[in-house]
Amino acid sequence: MRIGFGYDVHVLAEGLPFVICGVRVDSALGCVAHSDGDVAIHALCDALLGAAALGDIGKHFPDTDPAYKGIDSTILLAHTVALLRKEGYKVGNVDITIALERPKLRPHIDQMRTRLAEVMGVEVGSVSVKATTTEKLGFTGRQEGVAAYAVALIERC
Ligand code: MG
Repeated sequence: MRIGFGYDVHVLAEGLPFVICGVRVDSALGCVAHSDGDVAIHALCDALLGAAALGDIGKHFPDTDPAYKGIDSTILLAHTVALLRKEGYKVGNVDITIALERPKLRPHIDQMRTRLAEVMGVEVGSVSVKATTTEKLGFTGRQEGVAAYAVALIERC
């Protein structure tokens, strides 16, 4: 078994779609990004790649590559899991924490877990998604951005 950690941040701006954990959530603010800006999936990909010491998401899916412009990040996650599989690893369990002032993500958590589990080909019980505010402190508290942290355990298949 091996463990990995990932972290990502995106700037929030008005009038952009807000996609997180593969789910479109109603929000006044959305992520500025080259891809669909799914900050949680980006952190998760980095955790999975980190667990296998395979580098990071920027190495495998460079944001300078037009192929990834506006890409659905679930595609990046599926690619990441396939990369691990090629190296002889499968996903054990993952745990994500999202730091965001609003909107409240609680009503969407189960849908997010289901979606991520589907994309990674694991049981929903192996996927944890949590959300927290930062009590109005810092860039997340001021709604300038959203941050996500992820840990992942992978196992030899
Ligand atoms: Mg990102």
